[in-house]
Amino acid sequence: MSPGAPGPDRLQPALPSPLQPVDDARFTRHGVQLLLKRDDLIHPDLPGNKWRKLAPNLAAAAAGRTVLTFGGAYSNHLRATAAAGRLLGFPTIGVVRGDELAGRPLNPSLARCAADGMRLYFVDRRAYRAKTIPAGLTGDGLVDDETCVIPEGGSNTAAVHGCAALGRELHGLADTIGVAVGTGGTLAGLAAGLAPGQRVIGFPVVRGGFLGDDVLALQQATFGSRAGDWRLDDRFHCGGYARVSPALESFAADFEDQHGLPVERLYVAKMLFGLTTLATEGRFPPGTRVAAVVTGQPVSSR
Ligand SMILES: *Cc1c(COP(=O)(O)O)cnc(C)c1O
Repeated sequence: MSPGAPGPDRLQPALPSPLQPVDDARFTRHGVQLLLKRDDLIHPDLPGNKWRKLAPNLAAAAAGRTVLTFGGAYSNHLRATAAAGRLLGFPTIGVVRGDELAGRPLNPSLARCAADGMRLYFVDRRAYRAKTIPAGLTGDGLVDDETCVIPEGGSNTAAVHGCAALGRELHGLADTIGVAVGTGGTLAGLAAGLAPGQRVIGFPVVRGGFLGDDVLALQQATFGSRAGDWRLDDRFHCGGYARVSPALESFAADFEDQHGLPVERLYVAKMLFGLTTLATEGRFPPGTRVAAVVTGQPVSSR
């Protein structure tokens, strides 16, 4: 795109993201090569899968339309959307889960959203689950037919298409790909973008075992059917969303020491823990190239 072009490409994402081999004895001992797919390096304010999911949605918003989206109090998606609004010059509204947060000091993640100009609306959990636009917003005229509404976690069909590019970047370079799963949008697109013979293992970071259905529904909505070779391994959520068990913490701290990679705890650490456990269990045949998708970075390291 030309320098003055509207849209997210103006932010000059570093694409394709780097693929870096790391020397980890827990893999090499079994004849397996571990690679890090550094999606966390795509953009400093919109790292990882948040770039891949937001960019196709923002192409529409860049015309100056307001973007409204949903997230929890620590949502990386809300932060990325707020940053995009600041950088590209469009208004943003965040509908945040938890009405008890209203009127209290903002946590660092929400404070960053607000500093980027995002208007925050707190709704109770039941209203949040309905994922509808709060009545107060339409009444105030802040939201109208032109408003671009992006679902929780940014996972809609445009986002799934955006994540298929991640799969295409890996053609010929890896056999098995590991990715963390929050809403499933990244996995849905990644799996569809891979070549025959490549497969994905998704590691849910939330409890409940419902994500397989969610990924399938996203693929059906986007591609009309199930797409690519993927499965989930539900053993590594460590108790649920945002839970960090002592075993996970010591694994992540050790991985940082060994490889110099800042390990984001809520998603990336669980995925790396899962892949490393599978390698230790001898689940990968010798000669397998395993690519771990580093979907984000710790907030503090930004
Ligand atoms: C949002 C997020 C995910 C989850 O992606 P989904 O498409 O919702 O499954 C994974 N890793 C990081 C770092 C994230 O911020």
